Amino acid sequence: MKTIDIVVPCYNEEEVLPYFVKETNEVIATIPDYRFRYIFVDDGSKDKTLSVLKTLASRFSNVKYISFSRNFGKESAMYAGLKNCTADYVIVMDADLQHPPKMFPQMIEGIEEGNDCCALYRAKQTGESKIRQLVSKVFFSFQNNISDVKMPEGAVDYRIMSRKMVNAILELSEVQRFSKGIFCWVGFKTKWIEYQNVERTVGTTKWSLWGLFKYALDGITAFSVTPLRVIAGMGFVISLLAFIYIIITLVQTLIFGIDVEGYVTTLCSVLFLGGIIELSVGILGEYIGRIYNETKHRPIYIAAETNLDEEEDEFD
Ligand code: UDP
Ligand code: MG
Repeated sequence: MKTIDIVVPCYNEEEVLPYFVKETNEVIATIPDYRFRYIFVDDGSKDKTLSVLKTLASRFSNVKYISFSRNFGKESAMYAGLKNCTADYVIVMDADLQHPPKMFPQMIEGIEEGNDCCALYRAKQTGESKIRQLVSKVFFSFQNNISDVKMPEGAVDYRIMSRKMVNAILELSEVQRFSKGIFCWVGFKTKWIEYQNVERTVGTTKWSLWGLFKYALDGITAFSVTPLRVIAGMGFVISLLAFIYIIITLVQTLIFGIDVEGYVTTLCSVLFLGGIIELSVGILGEYIGRIYNETKHRPIYIAAETNLDEEEDEFD
């Protein structure tokens, strides 16, 4: 029988986890041809997530967990889960039941059709604030237009992948991970299916608007150097205009003598150029920051404890 690992990053999810396991177990019971195992990654939660996981693990032998020494972020948690899975297929999903487990049969069917991956995208962003919807829309159109990776609007981190694809993902060892992009970057045949977004019923979202903005910026800088080209292009255009302006002024001065006016033009150009230079340095800084963080070669996560046992067959 084929095996499936379910990787679930959890940060302060004590309330929802019992429901998550209950609902997912109900779905799994309807898929008898596969054996499932959970790999929960407790991302340094400050609530009782770890003890809830331990209780679940004592009740269900296929519940495994890895607990981080601190909060490393969802990306690191997903990486830890993928690194520790051994199954033929791996499902990645959120703990908050916003990724409905009832999609499993369709996802498995999708991958069994000969694909390496079956991924989901949100049909409608119900349950999200207007401003978040806007950020998300701008992000997806920006990302798809300027970077190497293309993804449908509303793509979420809910997917099933083959062993082959998971191994490829693990080869990308960058510390600042942007999984949405990595999943697309590695290639492989992916089938996209639509699902209806569900509102989070228990717990709260872990993302602030600022966090979301930083995440979008990470995504763009991780997979595209277009912003760097844009500032180079901007420099070229401005230099060209400046050159033309210098010629005109020189000729004017030679013919009509020195004209002392021009306070407004001088002020405007100084301010404008100052702004452009600041912006360009900022963009450069973003990339340099990324290089700096990568060169430190720090581990992507540090596990404090786990009940994963490499010897044992833990699927159910
Ligand atoms: N998560 C995590 N580490 C974090 C933040 C979030 O592991 O630092 C997990 C969280 O427990 C959930 C998933 O990532 O399973 C998605 O988080 P959330 O529901 O807050 O995000 P949203 O659905 O609002 O995008
Ligand atoms: Mg959520």
